[in-house]
Amino acid sequence: MPIPARPHRDPGPALPEVFMHLHTPAEPATGVLVATERCTRGKTASFVRHIAFDVSGTRLAGNFRPGQSFGVIPAGLDEVGRPHKVRLYSVCSPSRGEDGSGNVVATTVKRTIDEHRDTHRLFLGVASNYLCDLSPGSRVTLTGPSGKRFVLPAAMAEHDYLFFATGTGIAPYRGMILELLAAGVQSRVVLVMGVPHASDLLYDGLMRELASRHPNFSYIPTLSREAQEDGHGPMYVAGRLKTHAGLIGDILRSDRGLAYVCGIAGMELGVIQGLAGLLSPAELERYVRVHPSVAGDVKGWTRAMVSREVGPTRRLTVEVY
Ligand SMILES: Cc1cc2nc3c(=O)[nH]c(=O)nc-3n(C[C@H](O)[C@H](O)[C@H](O)COP(=O)(O)OP(=O)(O)OC[C@H]3O[C@@H](n4cnc5c(N)ncnc54)[C@H](O)[C@@H]3O)c2cc1C
Repeated sequence: MPIPARPHRDPGPALPEVFMHLHTPAEPATGVLVATERCTRGKTASFVRHIAFDVSGTRLAGNFRPGQSFGVIPAGLDEVGRPHKVRLYSVCSPSRGEDGSGNVVATTVKRTIDEHRDTHRLFLGVASNYLCDLSPGSRVTLTGPSGKRFVLPAAMAEHDYLFFATGTGIAPYRGMILELLAAGVQSRVVLVMGVPHASDLLYDGLMRELASRHPNFSYIPTLSREAQEDGHGPMYVAGRLKTHAGLIGDILRSDRGLAYVCGIAGMELGVIQGLAGLLSPAELERYVRVHPSVAGDVKGWTRAMVSREVGPTRRLTVEVY
């Protein structure tokens, strides 16, 4: 049931030309790990590290943008003796890198740790634990960059930004926010960051410090398993479309508004339903194209409908994994 095309569909913002696949698995780069530090706020059950690589002398140097990804090929072989496959990690650095000259690129890695579904033995994800175990000086096989949609628009200053993150979904926004604020743009930038507990917040100190120095940047930590600092009860990120309806509604209703969603697969549905609750149908269609057959039943929308009956437009960019 395709969404009917509109005669004058908003083409959305022009995106910059970005470099892609400068290093492939057949011709990878070697990065040297130069920093690895915990980036959670307190003691927590999730282990997330900010990990930076020196990529000077490779084609990655100076050629990545926040929101793009790079690939990591873990050392060693898989259980059937083949090289491990590539895993993607979001660039959390601004385009100038961590070092100011594009030679150091960073990402935000969460260790995948669980009980195995079938055997109930400890399940450790290959690449995330490989990365988080490494020490400075380690040499790592990298590919990329990849992705050309989840980036800031070419004319950054002409837009205002609403960023929704869950967990490591904050990675691209860290780089984008550093890029926007360093450029001195007066754009309004709102980051809604969702995690279970306050101790799970990532880059929390940095975000608070940036918000205190830049009145155009608002940082809204959002906890799903405990009460909020502002007194509201536990909620998912979409709940902020109600508690901050004024601030967020102003951005979304203006011609400058752009919204981004990044993080845990499934979060996009709640955000899209929240947008439908906040905006009038005419305002909503700038962000979400809704098939007329489901327009009257927002609560009945499901994840399977996203991209089909309920499709993000070019003003709503989604990356979930
Ligand atoms: C565009 C993009 C950007 C990304 N950015 C980031 C990022 O910035 N930071 C980040 O941390 N991750 C990011 N990821 C996810 C990342 O690529 C990896 O998927 C993640 O780190 C897990 O990889 P792994 O090798 O550790 O786990 P794997 O060894 O690949 O294990 C995960 C796989 O095992 C299976 N599995 C999971 N749990 C269990 C279980 N309990 N029992 C049995 N099987 C199970 C799942 O089916 C899954 O396919 C991104 C993904 C994409 C697509």
